[in-house]
Amino acid sequence: MNDYIVRATSANGEVRVFAATTKTLVEDARQAHNTSPVVTAALGRLLTAGAMMGAMMKGEDVLTLQIKCDGPIEGLTVTADANGNVKGFALEPQVLIGARKSDHKLDVGCAVGHGMLQVIKDLGLKDPYVGNVELTTGEIAEDLTYYFASSEQVPSSVGLGVLMTKDNTVDVAGGFIIQLMPGATEETISKIEENLKKITSVTDLLKEGMTPENIAEMLLDGLDLLIYNPMETRFHCDCSVSKVSKVLISTGADELQSMIDDGEDIEVKCHFCNKAYKFTPDELSALLQAAQQKGKA
Ligand SMILES: [Zn+2]
Repeated sequence: MNDYIVRATSANGEVRVFAATTKTLVEDARQAHNTSPVVTAALGRLLTAGAMMGAMMKGEDVLTLQIKCDGPIEGLTVTADANGNVKGFALEPQVLIGARKSDHKLDVGCAVGHGMLQVIKDLGLKDPYVGNVELTTGEIAEDLTYYFASSEQVPSSVGLGVLMTKDNTVDVAGGFIIQLMPGATEETISKIEENLKKITSVTDLLKEGMTPENIAEMLLDGLDLLIYNPMETRFHCDCSVSKVSKVLISTGADELQSMIDDGEDIEVKCHFCNKAYKFTPDELSALLQAAQQKGKA
């Protein structure tokens, strides 16, 4: 198995943990978007969080995490489903500033800056759930910790990390989310706090060869953990010619006609995976005709 997420709970049911290894999906995202190291780290952290938060949902639910920020990266969007599929992009994929801190960690907070984190959960209801929080550090894990506490009222701790190799490919990536369930006792809480102190960095643990199971064991040390079946996770975009065609049609008949009149091929790129779709003027004409016939029907 490549990348995967494990879910675990304490035997008393007072705590739950999600832990993931996401090296391949973050590397796939890096290649798709040709991101600079600091953007790979920022996007990788958000993708990892998205994959784990997606695993908290069910069925056809869709999660979107969106950061709008004043740092050079400008913004990040990640979408995940409940089956381990996650995709995302940065508005500015080539940011180089804030490249490395003295401890060789990429300075994500500097690239992100100040701004807002929005969490949208489409749970198949009439209106989606939307939570907004101000970014606290722009380091993403801390911002999500704050989001869970303030917006969902679930005391949580989030750890996320992406480590690059010397040639700027992804070396290790992963993360965890630990959450207190309602009614957690003081005793359990202090045990968790003790365990969290032992975890300095997710990337250090992964680099040492620890698995998501090992990380869950560390977090729930002394609380008799139950580990559930792991779930695979991957960078996957569900874009297609027909979806891109719909987007083109939605720009309106006038817009389509002017593209046709230009007489040149057009290229449309998917934001989420950067895949390019080409349309010839003839194909655009066919789209326009089909749309107009449908309109008349
Ligand atoms: Zn796509």
